[in-house]
Amino acid sequence: MDLEHKAIERLRMAAEMSEKYYQKPLLVTVSGGKDSEVCLELCRRARIPFEVVHNLTTADAPETVRHVRKTFRRLELAGVPCAILSPLYKGNPTSMWKLIPQKLIPPTRKIRWCCAYLKEVANPHRCIVLGVRSAESISRADSGVLELPGKTRREKITFDMDNGDSRVIAVCQAKAKLKVHPIVDWTDRDVWAFLHDAGIEVNPCYSMGLRRVGCIGCPMASKSRYTEFQLWPKYEQLYRRAFVRMLEGRIATGKDRLWQTADEVFRWWMEDKNLEGQLDIWGGEIGGYKHL
Ligand code: SF4
Repeated sequence: MDLEHKAIERLRMAAEMSEKYYQKPLLVTVSGGKDSEVCLELCRRARIPFEVVHNLTTADAPETVRHVRKTFRRLELAGVPCAILSPLYKGNPTSMWKLIPQKLIPPTRKIRWCCAYLKEVANPHRCIVLGVRSAESISRADSGVLELPGKTRREKITFDMDNGDSRVIAVCQAKAKLKVHPIVDWTDRDVWAFLHDAGIEVNPCYSMGLRRVGCIGCPMASKSRYTEFQLWPKYEQLYRRAFVRMLEGRIATGKDRLWQTADEVFRWWMEDKNLEGQLDIWGGEIGGYKHL
């Protein structure tokens, strides 16, 4: 079976499970990136009922926000219910810039508190479709077609949906949140070929030189962050201002004086090798900086 038909079969099975155990259609989470475009088109081709949600992270590129709005207008005209959700923290509206001073640390590759507050806002007990792919990164290499997330990575349970893993039924009866990854085994090339053949308009950020779409300055974007801050310099200012407030908060709460200035935080956060020693957030050090 080719990749497209395999993914459609997975979606049809997931749609049945969603209706049976949750009495609701599948919920497709759209980030504005290429993988969620593929999932939307596959749901359309599978002719299954589905709803769509986008979580505003507040650090998205303006192009991403406009692209998502445009996509949602098209989907709504086709009768697909769509929702754009804003992030909340302790019941109040929040943003990346408010959260950094509250968490007293910027999001890093090792401490990604941001996803829980900015990307998984609704966290409903639903069958959720995500464009996660094993080939995307090492952290996603062990992703399954169907997953029951745990509190930690070790607690995560993956199911072999393609082979009708029967444990799925028990999990669904318990009303757990289930994640479906219909294109988990697709490569970048598969994704681009599918989008090209289907004539789907993608987020303009890709034609601006970015390989992935996420928050501007996302620590997972590695060196692309330099390009991102060149393209959207106001976001660098927003981070720097948030770092000033974060340092004030660290002083007020008696935290270690790891940095003296917002510029030091920024250069550490960008993992600028010119900085005297690189601080590891877990307390180690790379280079000659003091031990934490
Ligand atoms: S895209 Fe990056 S910065 Fe944004 S929520 Fe996800 S991990 Fe955090």
